[in-house]
Amino acid sequence: MIADKMKGMVANSSAIRAMFEEGTRMAAQYGAENVYDFSLGNPNVPAPASVKKAIVELLDEEDPVVLHGYTNSNSGYADVRQTVADSLNRRFGTSFAGKNIIMTVGAAGGLNVILKTLLNPGDEVITFAPYFGEYRSYTNNYDGVLVEISPDTETFQPKLDEFRAKITPKTKAVIVNTPNNPTGVVYSEETIKKMAAILEEKQKEYGTDIYLISDEPYRELVYDGVEVPWLTKYYANTIVGYSYSKSLSLPGERIGYLVIPDEVTDSETVLSAANVATRILGFVNAPTLQQKVVAKCIGEETDISFYNRNRETLYSGLKDCGFTCIKPEGAFYLFVKSPVADEKAFCAEAKKYHILLVPGSSFGCPGYVRIAYCVSYETIVNSLPKFRELARQYF
Ligand code: PLP
Repeated sequence: MIADKMKGMVANSSAIRAMFEEGTRMAAQYGAENVYDFSLGNPNVPAPASVKKAIVELLDEEDPVVLHGYTNSNSGYADVRQTVADSLNRRFGTSFAGKNIIMTVGAAGGLNVILKTLLNPGDEVITFAPYFGEYRSYTNNYDGVLVEISPDTETFQPKLDEFRAKITPKTKAVIVNTPNNPTGVVYSEETIKKMAAILEEKQKEYGTDIYLISDEPYRELVYDGVEVPWLTKYYANTIVGYSYSKSLSLPGERIGYLVIPDEVTDSETVLSAANVATRILGFVNAPTLQQKVVAKCIGEETDISFYNRNRETLYSGLKDCGFTCIKPEGAFYLFVKSPVADEKAFCAEAKKYHILLVPGSSFGCPGYVRIAYCVSYETIVNSLPKFRELARQYF
């Protein structure tokens, strides 16, 4: 018999994955071109050509025993960590050393490492709805308690009064995700400054340490020159989790990193505990070939114009049909208001038109649906008449 805790997790298992599997089944039945699968954030843009080049060069040139071996440190290759630190320092005017970087198995691996490192059972982790639903599972993995801040559906910026009110002596961490999945909203500098001030105030009031975890796999996926604040500059107890899954279209390769700055409380202890967490969670170390690949490709970017074209076409197309949605400034998601309160019923209706959407309740925000527009442009264009037919039922 499986563990009781796991039973709960299986019961709440990801609606996104379920929808994706449904999409694969429908594509086999109706033909892929007749299914508009907007369920999963699986980039449709190929990785930059430099990624393939780097892989080939590494396979040709590196000692295979080293290239495919365990790394000396569970935190990753020293030269790769230094390359990442140097790149961040150039971009953000910071002064990280290689030791501040821990290479991880994507953002998911990084979040699990840091939550394992920080949480005692019963510790609270705050996040802002709508949020990436896996935060609940990751927190639960370490017997933490996820505390949600309700969504501000006007702006989808964090509700800071509610945030202040919900911080308790048990609050150990706050997870923010900007650019945001599922809204595409970027938290403004003003929001971040206010959030930092609240965290400082509460740390003083309770005499505790509250770690701000910035989960940012979409950092470079921004439009119209929008700036994404670099959070370690605003609040000392900030840990950054990054991933190349979206920025280099490498989600299956499972590669990313954590930044644990010296300014973080007990930085040395946190760093060495995160190193151990990487090992004992069973990751042992982040994939070695991919560590070398991302170091070689540092500074490379995905083709943002591809996503931008999808964003503009879908956003204006949906608005023309009568749907309401905040225009995303980043990532590759649209978060659309469901025309009926029960958004799951709306998703079921959309499925009749072969349009696959994810209900907002998967992100702690019922009444909305998420559209992942990291699909081909043809899928976007061909889906619009279907959206129009669907909309006719409601508007
Ligand atoms: N965090 C957010 C906000 C995400 O949207 C995702 C993936 O979609 C992840 C983390 C996990 O990303 P990774 O593939 O790097 O583990």
